[in-house]
Amino acid sequence: LYRQIEGFLRQGILSGSLAAETRLPATRTLARDLGLNRLTVETAYAELQADGLIYTRSGSGTYVLPRFQPAAADRPADFAWPLWQQEEVPHTPSLTPDELLAATRHPQPLSLAIGTGDSRLFPVKDFHKIVQTVIRRDGIAALEYGDPRGYAPLRRTIAHVLGSQGVPTRPDNILITSGSQQGLALMAQLLLKPGDEVLVETPTYGGALDLFRALNLSIVSVPIDAQGLQIDHVEQQLQQRPIKLIYTMPTFQNPTGICLSTSRRRRLLALADRYNVPILEDDFVGDLRYEGRAQPALKALDSGGRVIYLSTFSKMLMPGLRVGFLVADGPIYNRLVNFKRASDLATSNLTQRAVEAYVTIGRYQAHLRRSCQIYRQRRDAMLTAIKRYLPGVQIDPPRGGLFVWVRLPAGLSSSQLLPLACEAGMAFAPGRDFFPPDSLEDNALRLNFAAQHPADIEEAIKRLSSALHRYSNGFHKVH
Ligand code: PMP
Repeated sequence: LYRQIEGFLRQGILSGSLAAETRLPATRTLARDLGLNRLTVETAYAELQADGLIYTRSGSGTYVLPRFQPAAADRPADFAWPLWQQEEVPHTPSLTPDELLAATRHPQPLSLAIGTGDSRLFPVKDFHKIVQTVIRRDGIAALEYGDPRGYAPLRRTIAHVLGSQGVPTRPDNILITSGSQQGLALMAQLLLKPGDEVLVETPTYGGALDLFRALNLSIVSVPIDAQGLQIDHVEQQLQQRPIKLIYTMPTFQNPTGICLSTSRRRRLLALADRYNVPILEDDFVGDLRYEGRAQPALKALDSGGRVIYLSTFSKMLMPGLRVGFLVADGPIYNRLVNFKRASDLATSNLTQRAVEAYVTIGRYQAHLRRSCQIYRQRRDAMLTAIKRYLPGVQIDPPRGGLFVWVRLPAGLSSSQLLPLACEAGMAFAPGRDFFPPDSLEDNALRLNFAAQHPADIEEAIKRLSSALHRYSNGFHKVH
């Protein structure tokens, strides 16, 4: 009976025949009129109230609530957003290179624009098994929040791996983060306030620039050359400005693939010491080395507390895990932990346990070896194709990582080239994405060599070459 009453009223409200603010009969009256127990009517009203369709005003009665806003698709043309939303500055995101490529509906699109490895190499089956094993092994414990610093065995494993790479650290100095992007955000938010100055190398990782801009930081750029960050320029900036943080990727830098020379590493540390500035070292692909000897991480040269080291499982394993970590020593560590806890309580406990199991049984190392082997071949395929099809460009062949940075002939703009390349069926990351607005350069572009098979790399470079011909033969002057 109560469901019948509830259904009848619900239909009236949703169809609009019972308008907003209509007063419903008192439960006692309705019960009497229908010859029912009052409790039956009260139960029906309670259900409608729980669903947000009616409300009671104390001492006055029960009323129909104003109707829900129609769903986005049904919004009328003259729909007015609430006032606080109207004050928001409209922001239309521009299309990413991959969206632009998809829009061309090319039958066989080839993207060299992405920032990670080849998703076809993700160890999906292995990981599936490991997650099952972890749930069977740990049960409920795997599904609780867990330690905000991160799952202790994973921190121990990471400390062990870092130790073997010459970065001695302890599990108590490691904080597991939701990707290294969170590590970046925690550091920037903790150490800097709006208007403070952060020094970056240019070009630099676009996601860091986005973050620093979102936090209203002032970005000071220092160019890099074939040996990485130009230390003399860093010193000039440190002399002139109260720089609060230095953000750098010393190994296989994004986007250029360049490594900071060992002597410059030492000089940078000495400067950070002299000017009392923390260094945020982002080692996002340090393990993807295809030739040459490993250089010491800045953190390995730090006698203590100057460098905060960031890394991630996104590039070497899978980005959707959202597992990264930072290494910090000194009082900053506990502040970072507290801030991490305040931000998102903890990184996914189940995922951390699965990563730990995966690394511990040696699968991670095997995966890494295989990835390095495959990516090395792909890098070589790209270098060969560039030599063959793009004779007019300049590159510094990378010894690791994921990217080749291609400088176009003088006067050409990679942003203008991009739509032509997409029409030809390939995409790249345009250079402007890696510069802050006040030192914008658009003459170069970033190619990912890891994400495509060698034959597809060659085809993509051929397409880029034809787009470049079209562009430099005057297309850009006409349009
Ligand atoms: N640093 C660099 C240099 C990157 O390229 C990326 C990924 N785009 C990140 C940090 C952040 O990656 P994640 O949050 O997935 O670890």
